[in-house]
Amino acid sequence: MTLVLSGGTVVTSIDPVRIEAADVVVRDGRVASVGSAPDLGPADGRIDCRGCLVIPGNVCAHTHLYSALARGMPYHLEPPRDFVEILRRVWWRLDRGLDEASVRASALVGGMEALLSGTTTLIDHHASPNAIDGSLDVIAEALATLGIRSVLAYEVTDRDGPDRAEAGILENRRFAARVASGSLPLARSMIGAHASFTLSEGTLAACADTARATGNGLHVHVAEDAADEEDSRARYGISVMERLARADALDERTLLAHGVHLDEEEVVAARAAGATFVHNARSNMNNAVGRAPLRRLGGHVALGTDGIGADMFEESRVAFFRAREDGAAADPRWALARLAEGARLAGRAIGEPLLGRIEPGAPADLVVLDHEAPAPVDATSFPGHWIFGLSSRTVRDVVVAGDVVVRDRQLELVGTDWLTEHARAEAARLWSRLDAIGEHPFDPRTAAVR
Ligand SMILES: [Zn+2]
Repeated sequence: MTLVLSGGTVVTSIDPVRIEAADVVVRDGRVASVGSAPDLGPADGRIDCRGCLVIPGNVCAHTHLYSALARGMPYHLEPPRDFVEILRRVWWRLDRGLDEASVRASALVGGMEALLSGTTTLIDHHASPNAIDGSLDVIAEALATLGIRSVLAYEVTDRDGPDRAEAGILENRRFAARVASGSLPLARSMIGAHASFTLSEGTLAACADTARATGNGLHVHVAEDAADEEDSRARYGISVMERLARADALDERTLLAHGVHLDEEEVVAARAAGATFVHNARSNMNNAVGRAPLRRLGGHVALGTDGIGADMFEESRVAFFRAREDGAAADPRWALARLAEGARLAGRAIGEPLLGRIEPGAPADLVVLDHEAPAPVDATSFPGHWIFGLSSRTVRDVVVAGDVVVRDRQLELVGTDWLTEHARAEAARLWSRLDAIGEHPFDPRTAAVR
C-alpha cells in the first residue's frame, strides 16, 4: 500500500525543528521517502497537502482514558479540601463505578478526541477495580477500531484490597504476553502502578518483578502531591524515589508521572537511571498540587494530560505559559522539545526509535494541519507559530501506521455521531451508579502490608 502526501510544508523533526517543502511517500506503514518525488509510480491513496503543514503525530505521554465520561458528572459530597480527598471523593468513586461497557465507551470517545486533535499515540494508565480482568484488551480493541496507537497499563494498587492488587498484577502480565504474541499491532504494554502511598512493599516489588519479567517499563505516579512523600517517609523512613530504587523499579523505560514534590537527591537518582518524567501542567493546576520543578527535572520530561482530554497543542501551550510565569527565559522550543521527549518515550515502549520524526523508515504517524499562517513559517519561526497560532482546530487529516484514520476532520473508521451518542448513554448509566458509591475508605496507615 502506497500513500502520498503531496505539496505540503513538512516538519520532519520538532526537536530540533527541521522543515522542508516536500512530498511524503508512505509505504507499508512507514515513511518511504521525503522530498521531491517526480516519479511516484502508482499510489493507492493521495492527500493534497498544498497550503498545509505536515507534522509528526503528537504523543500524550500520560492519560487516563477511563475519565473520558466524567466531565460534568454529578457530585453531592462535601467539596474535597486536598489532593487525597479529590482522589477519595471523585476519582476512586468513578473508577469503582466502571464496568466493561463504560471502559469500552471511555476508550472509544477518548481515542476519538485524541485523533481529531492530532494525537496519534496515547500512553494510558487504567483503573477499573470492579472490572479488572481483560480490561486492557477492551481498551486495546476499542482503540484498534479507531486506528490509534497506544501503550496501556493497569493501575496496580492496594487501596481496594489484596485480591484486586493481585488481579491488577495479573492483568498487566497477561496483557504484556498478548502484546508480545503480536496480535495487537497498534498496542504495546507497560506495567502500571498507582503511587507509593497506595502500594505496600510486597505489591511494589511484584510490580517491579513483573516489569523486569516482561521487559516492560513501570508507569507510576510519583510525588504528585506532598502527601505521597510524607507517607513514604512516615511509613518507610525513605523518599518515594528511594522506594522505587530499592524495588529495582528505576531504569530508562520507567515513566514517572508528575514529580512535583521531589527533592534534589530524588531528581538526581531518577535522572541517573534514565527514567522519564511526565509533566501534566493542567492537571497539576486543577488539583492544586503545586508547581513541578521543571528546571531541575532537566531534559527527560515529556507532557501528558492526566486525563484532561488528549489535545497536546493545548497541553503544551499551557505548560509553556506556566513555565513562562516562572521566568521569561522559557522558550517556545522548550514546549516542542517536551513533545519530542514524549515521542522518544513512546518509541522506546513501542520499539520504534524513529517515532515522532518524518524520515525514511519512521512509522507513518502524520498529521496534516490546514493553517493559513499570517507570518512566514520556517525552522526558526515554527515554535512561535506552535505556541501562538497553531491549535487542534487546524487538524484536517491524520495518518497512523500508514492508514488514514481522520480525513477532512472526520474519523475514517468509526462514525463520530454514533460514537458520541453511545458515549452519552454509557455516561448516563455510569453517573446513575455513582451516588451509591461513597467516599473511598482507603487509609495507607491501616493498609495491609504484604
Ligand atoms: Zn495520572
